Amino acid sequence: MTHLSDIQIAQAKKLVHVKNIAQKLSVNEDDLEMYGKYKAKLPLSLIDDAKVDKNNLVLVTALTPTPAGEGKTTVSIGLTEGLNKIGKQATVVLREPSLGPVFGIKGGAAGGGNSQVVPMEDINLHFTGDFNAVEKANNLLSALIDNNIQSKTNNLNIDPRTILWKRVIDMNDRALRDITIGLGGTANGVPRQDGFNITPASEVMAILCMASDLENLKKRLGDIFIGFTFENKPVFARDLKAENAMAILLKDAIKPNLVQTLEENPAIIHGGPFANIAQGTNTIIATKMGLSLSNYVVTEAGFGADLGAEKFLNIKSAFAKLNPKCVVLVATIRALRHHGGAKTVDYNTPSLEKVTKGFKNLEKHIENIRKYNIEPVVAINSFISDSEDEVNFVIEKCASLGVEAVLSEGWAKGGEGTKKLASAVVNVVENKATQYTALYDWKSPITDKIEIIAKEIYGAKNVEYSKQAQLNLRRIDRLGFNDFAICMAKTQKSFSDNASLIGRPEGFTVTVREIEIAAGAQFVIPILGKMMRMPGLPTIPASEGMTIDNNGVISGLS
Ligand code: ADP
Ligand code: MG
Repeated sequence: MTHLSDIQIAQAKKLVHVKNIAQKLSVNEDDLEMYGKYKAKLPLSLIDDAKVDKNNLVLVTALTPTPAGEGKTTVSIGLTEGLNKIGKQATVVLREPSLGPVFGIKGGAAGGGNSQVVPMEDINLHFTGDFNAVEKANNLLSALIDNNIQSKTNNLNIDPRTILWKRVIDMNDRALRDITIGLGGTANGVPRQDGFNITPASEVMAILCMASDLENLKKRLGDIFIGFTFENKPVFARDLKAENAMAILLKDAIKPNLVQTLEENPAIIHGGPFANIAQGTNTIIATKMGLSLSNYVVTEAGFGADLGAEKFLNIKSAFAKLNPKCVVLVATIRALRHHGGAKTVDYNTPSLEKVTKGFKNLEKHIENIRKYNIEPVVAINSFISDSEDEVNFVIEKCASLGVEAVLSEGWAKGGEGTKKLASAVVNVVENKATQYTALYDWKSPITDKIEIIAKEIYGAKNVEYSKQAQLNLRRIDRLGFNDFAICMAKTQKSFSDNASLIGRPEGFTVTVREIEIAAGAQFVIPILGKMMRMPGLPTIPASEGMTIDNNGVISGLS
C-alpha cells in the first residue's frame, strides 16, 4: 500500500453538502449561514443550556508531547467517528489552526490520516475569517491607543511607556517581537516601543473563547486593561470607547463553524490554539453549541494535560459550568520512549526499557486527571513503529492503576479503528462519571492559585517570583484583579519550566518571570521561564514544501 499524505487523503474525499451535516444535528438549512457548500456558521440561538447540562462532554488531552505532536486532534476526530459507529450521536469540537504552525514546523490542525476534518485546506488556511476578525479587532484597539496619544483634544494622557497592549498578526515573525512605531515627525504619531504577538495569543482571542454572547463579548472587550496615564490611573479599552467597534468586527467570528469529518460526521471548529501561551481550547460557545446539538461532544485541549487540560478544567469548565465526564489521555509509544531517554533519531526504534522508564510521565498525568474527580481512559495512538511488547506493557501498567488503555487506530482506519476506544469512553461516561471539581477556587489569592497548579499538576517543590513578577503581583492587587483565573505560560516539553526535564521531574522550583493581565478574559498570565508570545520560523519552514497548481489544487500542506 502506498502511503498517502494527509492532504491526499483529504482531497480524495467527496464532501457532502454542509446542510446534510446540519441535518444530523437537527439543524434546519435555514438556520445555517453558508460559506460556500462545505462550511457554515451556526447562530447562537441554537444554544440550549438544558441540553448542555444533559449531554456528555469528553475531553481529549495528552501526555507531555514531543515536538511533532502526539495525535490529540487525530484521536479526537477518530474517536468521534468511532462513537458514531457504535451508535452514539457524536460531534467533534475543535480549535481553529493558526497560520504560524501551518507554515512553520508543526503543520495544520485538521487531524491526520483517516481521521481528518475537511475541507482541510480551507480549515488550515483562512477558513471563515475568524482569525482575521480577531486580528482586526485587536489592531483597531492599537490604532485607537496611538491615535489618542497623538490627539490634542481627546487625549487621555496615556503614558506610552506603560502600554501593555500589543499588535497581532497570524504569522511566525520574530522580527516583529520588538519594534518602534510612530517615527517620521509630528504628523505620524508619537514614537514608542511596541511589538507584535501571534494572533492566537491576543487577548481578543481569549475573550472570544470565554464570551457567552455578544453582550458579554462587548463587556469583556471594554474591560481590556491597556496601561496607565501619567497620573498613574489605569486605562481600559472602554475609556477609548473601543468595545462596540471591536465587537462589530467580531459579529461573525463569534459564531461557531460547522464542517464535516472524513466519515461525514459533524465537526464544529472555533477559537484559537496555543495552550502554552494562551487558554488554547475552542470557545465556550462552540462547546455549548456541540452539547446543545449532540449527545456526545469530543473536544481537544492543546499540548500536554499540564497545559491544555489544566486550563480547560480550571478556567473554561469552572467558568462555563461544564462537566467533562471522561478525559482521554493520548499517549504514543514514541513519546514514552522519549520520556525514557530516547534521542530523536531513536523515536521509532522499539525499546521496552525506554517505554517502561518513560511511563512515569503518563502515570503523573493519570494521577493529575483524577485530582479533578474525572476518570481517564488512555488512548495509545497507534504508530507503525510500535512493538506489541511495548503496547502490551502500557495496557497492563494502566490496568494496574485501574485505567483502561486502548489501542487507537483512527489514523490508519478511521472510525473502524476506534470502536474499542469509543466503547471504553462510553463505559466511563455511563458508569464512572462524577461531578468534576476544579483544583482551585478563583476567589483565592493569585499566589495560592499559582502554587496549587505548580505543586499539584507540575509536581514542583516551590514557586519563586522574579522582581518583575513581584511588581506585577502588586499591580494586580492594586487593580483589584485577585479573583481572576490563572492562565500559565509554560513550555509544553516538560512538567517543569525547563524544557530539558523529561519524564516526571521532581524537587524542582518554577520561576515566575512576569505576570501579564488579561482583564477582559478574566485571567492573569504568569510567564514561567522564557516564553515567546510571537514564535519564529524554523530554518527550513514548511512553506517551502508547498505549492498550488493552475487548477487551484494545493499540495504539501500537512
Ligand atoms: P496534536 O493534536 O496532538 O498536536 P495531531 O493530531 O495534529 O497532534 O497530529 C500531529 C501529526 O501526527 C499529524 O500530522 C498527523 O497526521 C500525525 N499522526 C497522528 N497520529 C498518527 C499515527 N497514528 N501515525 C502516524 N502519524 C500520525
Ligand atoms: Mg491538535
